[in-house]
This record gives sequence, C-alpha cells and structure tokens, in this order.
Amino acid sequence: MSNAIEGGCFCGRIRYRLKACPMFVHCCHCSDCQRQMGSAFVINGIVEAENVDLLQGAPVMITLSTNSGRPHDVYRCADCQSALWSDYGRRKWLSFVRLATLDRPSAFPPDVHIYIRSKLDWVPLPAGARAFDEYYDVQAEWPKESLDRLNKARTRATGSARS
Ligand SMILES: [Zn+2]
Ligand SMILES: [Zn+2]
Repeated sequence: MSNAIEGGCFCGRIRYRLKACPMFVHCCHCSDCQRQMGSAFVINGIVEAENVDLLQGAPVMITLSTNSGRPHDVYRCADCQSALWSDYGRRKWLSFVRLATLDRPSAFPPDVHIYIRSKLDWVPLPAGARAFDEYYDVQAEWPKESLDRLNKARTRATGSARS
C-alpha cells in the first residue's frame, strides 16, 4: 500500500495528492461551515497551495461572503459539487483542504476544535481536545515546524513574512 496522501470528489472526476502533511488541522464548528456543509462541522487541513497536486480534473471556484468581508473561495467538482478545498481571504498560497475527501479520511485528526460556541449540543469533544469558543492564536498553538512552513510559504508568495 502506498503512503501517498490522495483524495478526490464523490464522482471521481477530480483526484488530488497532498505532497506534504497538513501543517495544522481544524475541526470547525462555526455556523457558516455547518450551513455550507449541511453538517455538524468541517475538518480542514491547512497546507501550502503548492502542496496540493491535481492528478486529474480541475475544480471550479465559487465565492462565498464572510463576516470579515474577505472572500471565501471554495473549489468544487463541477459535476458532483463536492467541495475539495477552500481559500479563505483569496490568498492563493494557502489551502484549507476538506480532509474528509481523502481516501483515508481519518488520517489527520484535528489539532484544535474551533468556534465551539456554535457546536451542536450532541457532538461531544474528545477528552483533552484543545477547544476554542471562536478562533485562536496561531503563534501559540501551531508547532514550530508548521509555523516555519507557513512563514516560508507566505514569504514566497507575498515577499513579506506577515500578511
Ligand atoms: Zn465529482
Ligand atoms: Zn467554520
């Protein structure tokens, strides 16, 4: 069995491979994710966009509004409409991959549970889970290797260490 991290949409038209493990994994319980998914939460693995390799097909982008006013671009299969990844704020260099579209959807358990203020009452959190009412402090929670990757990707894309 290969160790490749691969996934795809429901109908199989789009297949992708992650060239690196996610830097950090969110289980997001916010009401936007709930309504967009029609589900209790979404599991997002954050990776550099350049580490998402399309193997087959090409997703289409739709843009959703957010409270922050920055666009939320969702990349979907044009046929079956599965959402594969998101680009929050249209950065172009950072992808939030919907990890339940992986062939092994349990491969990367969440590092944090966020926006638990809107978590459905009957969804329990695992013992010891790091959970936040809303968002959290990236510098405080991400492992150093992941912060290094994030900063490198940002610098490559924007020429600046902060954005
Ligand atoms: Zn599809
Ligand atoms: Zn959310």
